Amino acid sequence: MVQIKGGRECQPCTACCDGWLQIRVNGTPVHPGRKCPHSTGSGCNDYANRPVDPCVHFICGWRVDGSPMPEWMKPNTAKVIVLYDQTRWRGMPVDVAVPVGRRIPPRSLKWLMEYAQSYQRALLYSEQKVDDKGLFTNQQAFSAFGPPEFQHEMAALAAEGKRPW
Ligand code: SF4
Ligand code: SF4
Repeated sequence: MVQIKGGRECQPCTACCDGWLQIRVNGTPVHPGRKCPHSTGSGCNDYANRPVDPCVHFICGWRVDGSPMPEWMKPNTAKVIVLYDQTRWRGMPVDVAVPVGRRIPPRSLKWLMEYAQSYQRALLYSEQKVDDKGLFTNQQAFSAFGPPEFQHEMAALAAEGKRPW
């Protein structure tokens, strides 16, 4: 997170620091509605002391070396964080996409679906749940895109309240 090491740079994106990925930073839970206390919204105010896990280790799909994602899919503008190869389904790579906000915008989701279809990949994408006051919870609803059997299996897992990966 918020690293500058050749290739693409994070700044001014802080999407993964701002709670859209559920993480713990030095024991502090970070989730939708509760960003890392060190995030300034355009960087990290304690960059030199950021923890190795997750901050140094984590690189999203837009920043990873050789990323297929176009420039406009940067998480702070495309409003989606992509995690490639999070799991496999019958040998097929499964990517996971979480929104920066409540839902992944249609243009970004369309790109992800077309990419999955073109390269024989499966996609799990989520929507952030809100409470009855419209405040973000740390719950997500997942949808599946890919072969029909994959979609059925993921829907069955979701119906049982199980994490799809
Ligand atoms: S979501 Fe990606 S680009 Fe944005 S701060 Fe995290 S690693 Fe960097
Ligand atoms: S410590 Fe810095 S790099 Fe780590 S999550 Fe917080 S703002 Fe991001």
